[in-house]
Amino acid sequence: MYGIYIDKDEALQIAISVFSISLALGIVFAGVDGMLGYPREFLLFLAPLVVTVGSGFILHEMAHKLVAIYYGAQARFRMWTQGLLFMLATSAFGILFAAPGAVYIYSNTISRRQNGIISLAGPALNIALAFFFIILQFVAPINQFFSFLLILGADFGPYGIGAGILQVWRFGAAMNIMLALFNMIPAFPLDGSKVFAWSMPAWIAAVGFLLLVGAAVISPGIVIGWGIMLVIFGVLSKLLFG
Ligand SMILES: [Zn+2]
Repeated sequence: MYGIYIDKDEALQIAISVFSISLALGIVFAGVDGMLGYPREFLLFLAPLVVTVGSGFILHEMAHKLVAIYYGAQARFRMWTQGLLFMLATSAFGILFAAPGAVYIYSNTISRRQNGIISLAGPALNIALAFFFIILQFVAPINQFFSFLLILGADFGPYGIGAGILQVWRFGAAMNIMLALFNMIPAFPLDGSKVFAWSMPAWIAAVGFLLLVGAAVISPGIVIGWGIMLVIFGVLSKLLFG
């Protein structure tokens, strides 16, 4: 059971990372102005972000960890302080660089196939969570008003934000689909590069499925933008690394 154990230090790094990614996303949506102008509302805004995106981040990492341990490896979450600070800094400019840390895997016996499956487990977890949130949106919707979301306008309607109202579960589903798509970009060190290195058909199937879910849940337009970007990265990877 040694490998499954999460020690105090790892738990602390997980907690800091979950809080930081939620804070960074909060700043992306509220803006620095919104955070400073409505500090009380901003603090309340962090709760749905931790529940939907903080959980999506850490369950994704724990999925990698559990599958790696299943394959006999040692796996441990490590916070990346520079990445975490960079994430908070870029959030002020409206960009989420979702990399406060990752699970590191220690083993000499992990095959390319096993590494691909370990990598696929994270995005798969985000999709499962997205489906769970979609169900919650129907059976127990939570809508919250935040003053600083008013200025976002109609562009974020597909992501569950409109007229200042956050549809918590719809937003959570959209964000988890985005997290999965981002991680499936086939560029090192993202999960997609390891899935791609293991099996191009598996990568295409996973990304195709993600784009279909994204089209249904968020907007059909997502297929064009992400589809083009993923193909460009795929072709570049193939050219550069074979
Ligand atoms: Zn991952």
